[in-house]
Amino acid sequence: MIRAIRGTRDILPPETALWNFVEAAVRDVFRVYNFHEIRTPIIEDLDLFRRSVGEETDIVYKEMFAWEDRGRAESEKGGQWLALRPENTAGVVRAYIENRMGERGLLQKLYYIGPQFRRERPQKGRYRQFYQIGAEVIGPLAAGSESPAVDAEVLALLAALLNRVGIRDWKLELNSVGCSEDRPRYNQALRNALADTLGKMCADCQRRAVTNPLRVFDCKVPADQPIIEALPRISDYLDAGCRSHFAALRKILDAQELPYTINDRLVRGLDYYTRTAFEFTHGALGAQNAVLGGGRYDGLSEALGGPRAPGIGFAIGEDRLIMTLGQSAEAIATPPDVYVAPVGEGMDPEAAGLAEELRRHDLVVELGNESFRLKKSLETASKLGARFAVIVGENEVKSQSFALKNLGTGEQVSVARGDLPKTIQANRT
Ligand code: ATP
Ligand code: MG
Repeated sequence: MIRAIRGTRDILPPETALWNFVEAAVRDVFRVYNFHEIRTPIIEDLDLFRRSVGEETDIVYKEMFAWEDRGRAESEKGGQWLALRPENTAGVVRAYIENRMGERGLLQKLYYIGPQFRRERPQKGRYRQFYQIGAEVIGPLAAGSESPAVDAEVLALLAALLNRVGIRDWKLELNSVGCSEDRPRYNQALRNALADTLGKMCADCQRRAVTNPLRVFDCKVPADQPIIEALPRISDYLDAGCRSHFAALRKILDAQELPYTINDRLVRGLDYYTRTAFEFTHGALGAQNAVLGGGRYDGLSEALGGPRAPGIGFAIGEDRLIMTLGQSAEAIATPPDVYVAPVGEGMDPEAAGLAEELRRHDLVVELGNESFRLKKSLETASKLGARFAVIVGENEVKSQSFALKNLGTGEQVSVARGDLPKTIQANRT
């Protein structure tokens, strides 16, 4: 038997109803914040992720699905290296540059919903194909893209979004990770502090300390944590610009009474983050407790060869978001209002006609089959959770009055054709 690939899964009904509920709710929140949808390709040039996410990150270093594409012309040496996107910020910023989206001088407020791919060890809340709902606000400096007011609006949107889908007990953790001006000083301080203890740390940390010491904070090895806890704090190294940007953001959040805690160990997994970095966590997720992460990436567009275009974004793990919902899929999925049961030979066309008529009244209709005995039709209707069955037999067609059976109470009445929709609607829950 051929099975789904390790780390991938089928999302089936009724669970898909939960996914649709979440996606409809978030689209509605994005709408009132004036965000617009962007759809970028799932496959991109591998270099895009190397240059944006960064070679030293776990994502690029060990989690990418990448391959050499042989589809190129014979004359060219070697193929192009392609990758399944592990995240969507890089793709959005590439699209921003390629389509000159900043040219009108406006802030681009973009959102996406779609699959991402990482070759991770699969476990609860961690898959190789997973889904993210994310957004990016990016634009030229003159559009105000660097302003802390943008950061505050993004965080307010996130709070609204989580509240909207019914998640109340989230926690916002906030930090500023500085910028290219103050980062070298902080990296040096980290290297100095790590010099004595590095030998006791995991192999990943030893590598990170040389290449990109900030990444040491990504370490999840328990034995390393006391060492990490004692490292210098980034807040002591921020330059004046980053310090006042962070203060201004906090002032807006405080004014809006949006609760947060400062976590100066929060650095985020990607290289391109500057200044504001944040995560929303939820207790129900256990070890995989980050529902979403995000931050500012003021230098990313330029790093990809584009114009100066500061930005800020986030990505919600949709799989994890759905795990935290208190709601069950069954409670959201809508069972059919009515099962139309043709009884007897030649009744299929009559039943089909009636079904169409009821659907025009926005009723959810499941259509039976004349080869079924009445008993089997009623059993099927009950299994589907239909509220009513309407019986379409020769006599009913002649009189244009149909037997309508309430499958909850077992009560059966005869209803004129024209009265069927409102009788069924009246009993909708
Ligand atoms: P983690 O520390 O859990 O590995 P991350 O820092 O790698 O998360 P991001 O790159 O910030 O995650 O992605 C944003 C969100 O996407 C995460 O907060 C999480 O909810 C979700 N996510 C990341 N990787 C996976 C995965 N393999 N399976 C399911 N959801 C994921
Ligand atoms: Mg990860």
